[in-house]
Amino acid sequence: SFLFPSPSLSYYLPSMSDFVKGVVTATKGRLFDVRTDDQRAVSCEIRRKVKDASDNTTPVAVGDDVLMTLLPDGFGAIEEVLPRRSSFFRPTTGLREIKQVIAANLDQLAIVVSVYSPPLKIGLIERFLIAAQMGNMTPIIVINKIDLERPDDLERITTSYRQIGFAVVWTSVKTGEGVSEIQSLLADHRTLFVGHSGVGKSTLLNALIPGLGIKTNEVSDFSNRGKHTTTTIEMYELPLGGFIVDSPGLKVMGLWEVDKEDLPHYYPEFVRYAAECKFSTCSHTHEPNCAVKSALARGDIAQFRYDNYLSIAESL
Ligand code: GDP
Ligand code: ZN
Repeated sequence: SFLFPSPSLSYYLPSMSDFVKGVVTATKGRLFDVRTDDQRAVSCEIRRKVKDASDNTTPVAVGDDVLMTLLPDGFGAIEEVLPRRSSFFRPTTGLREIKQVIAANLDQLAIVVSVYSPPLKIGLIERFLIAAQMGNMTPIIVINKIDLERPDDLERITTSYRQIGFAVVWTSVKTGEGVSEIQSLLADHRTLFVGHSGVGKSTLLNALIPGLGIKTNEVSDFSNRGKHTTTTIEMYELPLGGFIVDSPGLKVMGLWEVDKEDLPHYYPEFVRYAAECKFSTCSHTHEPNCAVKSALARGDIAQFRYDNYLSIAESL
């Protein structure tokens, strides 16, 4: 039945040779969609030992590589979660016992913003850049709706990010600009897409995966803002190879558990100069003989990056 999909789970004990390798493509309550290496889609429960083995973190997340067994009723049982190469956590909101993993084993984070409607929010990009690096993911900054009115400093900001080494793509799903550039960056990678509501993320995902049919332009329910709603997280295969993960719930940004002393490490252009600061523990704020502040004064570090660094440091 729907409520008890695997009555066989309790008595069916498989041997190692029955283990099938697969990847988790969706989490749906206590059921997980697994795509096996031989391309079967199986709905799975997880065995208790898998829950017990997870140490204060989500036992099974989208992107996890798993060993599973096929049960006689057509369902599957996740027997083991293979070690994670990376994981992307939900930002902490208050005290939580379990670190919630949004997705595992992803190698890129596409940060989707728009130039206008909603307006470009640099602070949001900055926070996601930190999150990407903390989660071992290469960030890609996608600046969408480039067909609309652009803020004056867009070129300057784009150039700064590229000089630091962050990929920036200007897109318009409306005119098609930049879409093929994104496609080649995504090919053969596993990329998590994040973005504020209304930036065009769904429209972009639909353009990248023909036939996907994610609902676009949904009117947000303001009465529900801030409430913790369970959202399905899903991974989709790209026509050119690789996967993308959509995270409909990840729209509001909180703060990650980043130590104040570690914060400068997430600014690659600071790291280039920090070795020359007088103090090895320099926070690049009030200390004398700070090489980062000298670089800022020379224009070798962008003012907007330094300003955002200060405001994030203050908030920690
Ligand atoms: P989401 O909330 O980020 O998933 O945003 P949607 O994909 O639902 O798009 C929000 C609105 O922006 C819709 O009305 C889209 O048609 C529109 N939109 C998406 N991409 C573009 C674009 O490149 N240019 C323009 N002008 N509008 C766009
Ligand atoms: Zn310094």
